[in-house]
Amino acid sequence: MSHKLKVAEARAEYITEQDVWSHFNFIFSEKSKNSASYKYALVKSLLENLYSVNEKLELTYYQVFESFTEIYWNLVIHHKLSQLNLQQKSARIETVLKESLLKHHLNDQIIFEKIPDQIKIKIVKKVITECKNDVMGALYGDTQGLIYSFDNYKRQLKLTPSFYSFMQRFQKVLMYLSNYHLALFLEKYNSGSSTDGLLLKIENVSKRKSLDKFYLLLASVYQKECFYCGNKIKSRKGNHVDHFIPWSFIQNDQLWNLVIACVKCNTSKNNKLADKEFLEKLIQRNNFLSLEENITQRVDMQLYVPKKLEDLYKYSRQNGYTDIWTPNRL
Ligand SMILES: [Zn+2]
Repeated sequence: MSHKLKVAEARAEYITEQDVWSHFNFIFSEKSKNSASYKYALVKSLLENLYSVNEKLELTYYQVFESFTEIYWNLVIHHKLSQLNLQQKSARIETVLKESLLKHHLNDQIIFEKIPDQIKIKIVKKVITECKNDVMGALYGDTQGLIYSFDNYKRQLKLTPSFYSFMQRFQKVLMYLSNYHLALFLEKYNSGSSTDGLLLKIENVSKRKSLDKFYLLLASVYQKECFYCGNKIKSRKGNHVDHFIPWSFIQNDQLWNLVIACVKCNTSKNNKLADKEFLEKLIQRNNFLSLEENITQRVDMQLYVPKKLEDLYKYSRQNGYTDIWTPNRL
């Protein structure tokens, strides 16, 4: 049975778009034995880490399961949504998170990003240990080994090139589908919650409340002016950290995609793509950042190559971000 596999190679064959869609239609159908919501959360976690892969398209379990843990922590602990499976038993993830809550004396109102880093790392590692065997083999099996190889001992997975390209091209609709099916799943076990209300919670489950640490980092080495209009930034108050590629698309906070922007630019840019001249400017800015010692130690910067930004720009346009914004420089 595939969900008991601990190591598996992806089948080395080219898959067409239609092949992948037929597997996803299966995953998102009643026929797929989704005794827990793991598959939707795993697809969501892969999408959130799409631009965190290395040059071989590999991701560590820590990267994937940090997203996975955050999704469940904020749903199960913070929003108090149950993950009962079809046998009416609590899903393993729910038990692990509730045990961690008690063990580390955390308040059950706390959102994942506010948990101190050292505790957060312990919780993610615990989730990997307890859940990897149920999670990794299940999606592998449902897609007949066509989308990734995985190794539960090395704690690493590797996406196949054709699946990676599929996810880039259909990122927005895949994110919507995994969020929607997660909402439908939760609706079954949480009476009184509407699909719309659940969907809103799920859509924002990984969104940072504060980008302060990125502001401090960027302001310490570089920008003293708005990335877009060039106005001087006199104080931190009222100025914002902007996701160059909108957060609603990338769903992750990587330093190489973040810039300091004045309130006016940040507000008017909102969910739009900036003009291509700023793509070039950001690539140059990132080259500059790569020279800073305290920044090159960051994992996101180590995995950064300019092509990631160029791809993101191209694919966000293909995924519907067609409104191009330019700052009012007056
Ligand atoms: Zn500005």
